[in-house]
Amino acid sequence: MRRFSPFEDTLWYATAAPAPQTRPLQGDVQADVCVVGAGYSGLTTALELAKQGVSVVVLERAQVGFGGSGRNAGHCTPTFTHYSLPDLRRVLGEPWAERLIHRQTRANDRVGAMIRDYGIDCEWEQNGYVQGALFPSHIKVMEKRAAEYNAVGARTRMLDRAEVAAITGSPRFMGGWYHEEAGGLNALGYARGLARAVMREGGQIFTESHVTGTSREGGKWAVTTPQGRVLAEKVIYTTGAYTVAGWPKLDQTFRILRVFVAATQPLSPETQAHLLPKRTTIQDGRGDIYVYKYSAQNRIVASMFPMVRRGYDRALTAKIMTDRLKWLHPEIREDIRWDFFWTGELDMQRQTVPRLYQLAPGVVAMTGLSGRGVPTGSMLGGILADWAMEAELDLRLEPLSAQPRYMDVAPKAALLGYRLRDNFKALRQGAPLPPHA
Ligand SMILES: Cc1cc2nc3c(=O)[nH]c(=O)nc-3n(C[C@H](O)[C@H](O)[C@H](O)COP(=O)(O)OP(=O)(O)OC[C@H]3O[C@@H](n4cnc5c(N)ncnc54)[C@H](O)[C@@H]3O)c2cc1C
Repeated sequence: MRRFSPFEDTLWYATAAPAPQTRPLQGDVQADVCVVGAGYSGLTTALELAKQGVSVVVLERAQVGFGGSGRNAGHCTPTFTHYSLPDLRRVLGEPWAERLIHRQTRANDRVGAMIRDYGIDCEWEQNGYVQGALFPSHIKVMEKRAAEYNAVGARTRMLDRAEVAAITGSPRFMGGWYHEEAGGLNALGYARGLARAVMREGGQIFTESHVTGTSREGGKWAVTTPQGRVLAEKVIYTTGAYTVAGWPKLDQTFRILRVFVAATQPLSPETQAHLLPKRTTIQDGRGDIYVYKYSAQNRIVASMFPMVRRGYDRALTAKIMTDRLKWLHPEIREDIRWDFFWTGELDMQRQTVPRLYQLAPGVVAMTGLSGRGVPTGSMLGGILADWAMEAELDLRLEPLSAQPRYMDVAPKAALLGYRLRDNFKALRQGAPLPPHA
C-alpha cells in the first residue's frame, strides 16, 4: 500500500476552517453518479451535478482534501505550466486545445464565483501573479507568452524593471509578466468549503471510505468500500496523484514527482513592506522554480522541487529557502524561520495535460493535473459533469494508458537541465546568480 507524508504537517491543516461533518459509507446507497476522490476535481464535479438536480455521492478513502487539494501551496494562476499555448495546440489538436484553453484561462472566474456564492472561508486573495525575469533574454520569452495569452482573453501584461520592483519589492528582476486575475488561497480551506457546498446542494460525501473496486451489478455500477456500496449509473474517478487501487492500472497513468512547501513565521510589518508589498504570488523566473506568496497570517508560503539533499535535509532546505528569499529581497532584516514544512505528490505524464480516460461504458477517470490543479481541478468539474450529463465534451475521451518508467526520472532530469540552462544564460548575459544556483 502506498504511504503518504503526514497530512497534519501542513500549514493548512493547522489553519483551515473546519471540515463539514462526514462519516464512512455503511450499507447500500443509490445515486445517479458516484465520484471517487474528494479533491477539487471530484468536489467541483459533484457540486456541478448536485446543482443540476443529479443525485451524487462522493467517496473518499481518507478525508476531504487529503490529496493534492489539501496540501498544495495555494497558488491559483489560470495558465498551463508545461506547455505554451502553441505547443498545447500541437499536443492536443483542435477542437480540444482551444476548448481547454478557454476553460483554463477563465478558471479563476469560476473559483472566485464558487467562493463567493457559497461563502467559502479560504483566505482567497486575488492580487495577481508575477513571473520575474532574472536575465534579459527571458523578457523576450515572456512577451511572446503574454501576447499568446492575451489573444485568448487572459488579463496579463508585461512589467518593466521599476514596476516589477514596486509590485514585488525585489530589485533583482529586469522585468516581469503579470497576471492580474491570479490569486491565492488556503488549499484545505477551499477543499473543505467545496465539500460543504456539495452537501448544501444535496450531494452526499462519505470519508474514510476506500473504494476497493467497481463492478457491474443489475444494470448498475457497484462501487465497493469496506463497509458499503454505491449503486450508480455512472462512476467518475478523480483520485489523481493520490490514487490507491480503486480501478486496475489507474495508478499507472502517471508517475510521481515530489514537491515541497514551507511556511515562515508570521512576518513583521517592516519585512512585509519589502517583501511582496502588494501581496502578489511570485515565481522567480527560473525553470527550477521558487514560488511564494503570503498566507492570511502573513507567513510566506514557498515551494520548490526536491533536488539532491534539498527537500530532504530540513536544515539545508531551510537555509536554501532563506538565502534565496533574502537574495531576492535584500532589505529583509528579520530572521526567517520555517515553521511548517511538508511534501506532496504530482501526477506527471510524458505529456502532462489533464486526461480523461474511458475505463468502461459509464466509467471515466481523470489524471494529469500536475502542478496547476487549483484552477485546473476547479474547472475540470464542469467537464466531468458534462460527461455525466451526456453533454458535448471539452476533453477527448481516450483509453487508459500506462506511463513509461523513464517518467520516474525524466521530470527530475528536466529540472536539473533547466537549472544548468538558466545558470549558463545568466552568466552569458551578465546577470547575477542567486545563492545555491
Ligand atoms: C505539495 C503540492 C503543492 C502544489 N501546489 C500547487 C499550487 O500552488 N497551485 C496549483 O494550482 N496546484 C498545485 N499543486 C497541484 C494540485 O494540488 C493538484 O493538481 C490538485 O489538488 C489535484 O486535485 P484532484 O482533485 O485531481 O486530486 P486530489 O486532490 O489528489 O484528490 C484525490 C483524492 O482521491 C482520494 N483517493 C485516492 N484513491 C482512492 C480510492 N481508492 N477510494 C477513495 N478515494 C481515493 C485521495 O485520498 C484524495 O483525497 C500542488 C500539489 C502538491 C502535492
